[in-house]
Amino acid sequence: MSVIEELSQLLFPTRCFGCNAIGISICSNCRREWHPHFYTTHIRGMKVHSAISYSPTASRIIMAAKENGLKGADQLIIDAIVHVLDTANFDAFNVRLVPIPSSGINQRRRGRSFILELCREISAATSIPLIPALTINRKVKDQSSLNAKSRLTNMHGAFSINTNTYPRGDLILIDDVVTTGATVAEAARALNSHGFHVLASVTACLAQPLR
Ligand SMILES: [Zn+2]
Repeated sequence: MSVIEELSQLLFPTRCFGCNAIGISICSNCRREWHPHFYTTHIRGMKVHSAISYSPTASRIIMAAKENGLKGADQLIIDAIVHVLDTANFDAFNVRLVPIPSSGINQRRRGRSFILELCREISAATSIPLIPALTINRKVKDQSSLNAKSRLTNMHGAFSINTNTYPRGDLILIDDVVTTGATVAEAARALNSHGFHVLASVTACLAQPLR
């Protein structure tokens, strides 16, 4: 450890992203809730594979990464998605990763494009090429308080295909959480309607939708 690292540990000790306990970036209690599995759900005929069942612990880890930009929390999400990609055993020569972009407002507030940045590391770890083919073309509401039907309306037509990308092969959409699937369904619709082929989606977490 360098002097600067030692000093920063003293001033800002590592805390568990799940419960804030001082020590390591994820404690053994939270690790039980953040332990990558392989769940498969179906959204409009598309397979969605996820690693972690959403919980308050998972929510805090996602927030630590997304809203606070904590690298250790990023890494937990990256590892979860890589685990799912490895388990699904896609043909790495024929698939491409397509990140689901966040809205412009969120990108500016966070100072980064969250899923895109994670996807760069996921691509490096899996050797699956990354194609940032999607952009959000208008304002969308935060979906956390919306039910399934309002989410579909909220996302409809929200994605455009980047003009300078031509994603070949089978596309795998990447996002942090899937809830009702409105976002991945709309992203898949946008890509498929342009003649591309979305094979599946992969997310770190799988949440129960609001009814
Ligand atoms: Zn913990």
